Amino acid sequence: MNFIQTRGIDPNKPATVTFSEAILSPIASFGGLYVPKTLPNLGEEFLNKHKNSSYKELAKDMLDRFEIDIDSDVIDEALALYDGFDDSSNPVPVVKVKENLFVSELYHGPTRAFKDMALQPFGVVLSSIAQKRNDNYLILAATSGDTGPAALETFKNRANVQVACLYPDGGTSDVQRLQMVTEDAPNLKVIGINGVFDDAQNALKRLLASESFKAALKEKNVSLSAANSVNFGRIIFQIIYHIHSYLELVRQDAITMGEKVYLNVPSGNFGNALGGYYAWKMGLPVEKIIISSNENNVLTRLIKDGKYDLRNSEVVSTTSPAMDILKSSNVERVLYDLFGEARTKELMMSLEEQNFYELTSDELAKLQECFDADWCNGEEGKRYIKETFEKDGYLMDPHTATCMKSFERCSNPAIKSIIYSTAEWTKFSPVIANALTGEEDTQDLVALESISKVANLEIPAMVKGLFSKEIAQKTIIEKEDIESEILKFL
Ligand SMILES: *Cc1c(COP(=O)(O)O)cnc(C)c1O
Repeated sequence: MNFIQTRGIDPNKPATVTFSEAILSPIASFGGLYVPKTLPNLGEEFLNKHKNSSYKELAKDMLDRFEIDIDSDVIDEALALYDGFDDSSNPVPVVKVKENLFVSELYHGPTRAFKDMALQPFGVVLSSIAQKRNDNYLILAATSGDTGPAALETFKNRANVQVACLYPDGGTSDVQRLQMVTEDAPNLKVIGINGVFDDAQNALKRLLASESFKAALKEKNVSLSAANSVNFGRIIFQIIYHIHSYLELVRQDAITMGEKVYLNVPSGNFGNALGGYYAWKMGLPVEKIIISSNENNVLTRLIKDGKYDLRNSEVVSTTSPAMDILKSSNVERVLYDLFGEARTKELMMSLEEQNFYELTSDELAKLQECFDADWCNGEEGKRYIKETFEKDGYLMDPHTATCMKSFERCSNPAIKSIIYSTAEWTKFSPVIANALTGEEDTQDLVALESISKVANLEIPAMVKGLFSKEIAQKTIIEKEDIESEILKFL
């Protein structure tokens, strides 16, 4: 299967690329993204075949149908990482919370957030491509808290790959910071920056575009790559769990095969929701995809009004920080799928140049056939956390909680909903402790223990262990010094 480009083709670039090429340099002509030329059609035959398959069997068959240029044994090795999740026989448990509401838990991997679903196998795939080409890659990551730990965990000690991970010192939770600074491997460098997430992100963008930096890397025989969420190598692994979650509902006799469901996704960069959209296009019976946001509600406004408008918007910090995003990169792939390359290029250029685009009413109608959306503020989110815990006995994190309002307001109660849970309670414990008990400004360790008591849940060993683990990564620098620090590490 080859990959084509969302903004058309620059004559100086190849018209199509392989999966490996799309992974190594994810940015296509005119700043666009790569998309599969066609999506495999799975349909009901595929769903029936996998009614009783394990997660890995389902994943293997789905990936096979994409006909990607990755050897079968590499795929097996990549998928074997799901064995390290809490329950090796089912890495993604789907839990019934209400008669018509099911939660698909995507956080049972090593770093307790949904980034592991894609980054765990992605690490094996990228490293194998690098080895095959006899190249060395530097992966740059800037993180507000979830991507960093997941990227470090997956690339730790892998051949032909080094990682430099930038995080805002003081801008992540204690658990997130400890997950990064306790990672000890010769191919990993974690760098705290005196600044906020945007400083880390901007520094990364500068480095990715810097000719002098690339020249310095070349001298060391290193090429630059990124593991961010526009990379199709991540998206492909995010299609599988939507199909799996649907089949779980069939297995639990909650729906019959063929019955439509809502997929309700707490969204930031739209990778998770895009995986659901592709699963739907490939034949999964979906009523609609519901996009849930926090106060950074640009996706709600796009889906309700057809306007992507950043002219008077600034990112605000919320209780669901992994969704504090205004430029939601993967929306572009949906635009391409619905409206084609010429229109996508026009819309995306308008967004880049004027911070704004507006869909026609016909285009908006098409978008609304697929999506609905709503957003929820931090106080509402905390109320949903408390209420769902007290009424339904289910504890959710602040990202997942944004789905509760859109569940109430956007879905027909006669149709079952699958809400995607993107983080474990352990990762955002101060907000959850505040929601449950009213306690304020608690440190993670105190909050973890109080939730553990109130909710009668055990703190997982891998989280508790972080607080006594040795700090291996001690670098904290000014943002001006990032480039020299990275070169020193290499
Ligand atoms: C990354 C992340 C999200 C957003 O996912 P996208 O695929 O970027 O939309 C939501 N919740 C958590 C906890 C995350 O880490």
